[in-house]
Amino acid sequence: MCFFDQRRFACGDWKWGHFRQHCAKEYRTGETCGMRLIMQTVSVAQKCKLCEKIDTKMRRRAAELERIKRWQQEGAKFRASIDRSLDVIRGLDSEIYELSCERNRRLQGLSTT
Ligand SMILES: [Zn+2]
Repeated sequence: MCFFDQRRFACGDWKWGHFRQHCAKEYRTGETCGMRLIMQTVSVAQKCKLCEKIDTKMRRRAAELERIKRWQQEGAKFRASIDRSLDVIRGLDSEIYELSCERNRRLQGLSTT
């Protein structure tokens, strides 16, 4: 096994950081083996890339909803804008769904190695 840093993000997700040390078994070859162990955990103040992307899309989604609410108060005048906005939200929803799936896949992948 070989030793790596672990980077732990504000959202609770983590990923492997810098390589630190070979184990005795792999020392001579200069390769890193498949078995990774944590040397030290480094806390990162931000969320991970995926969660940040999800957050951005959630904020965008909330903003669209706000707009729709405002338009609805104006009556039928903004029908087309509301429809366009609903399309945007549908698009965001499927992107958010994809990102969450990717996040789950990654969490599962990491926990089995
Ligand atoms: Zn995350």
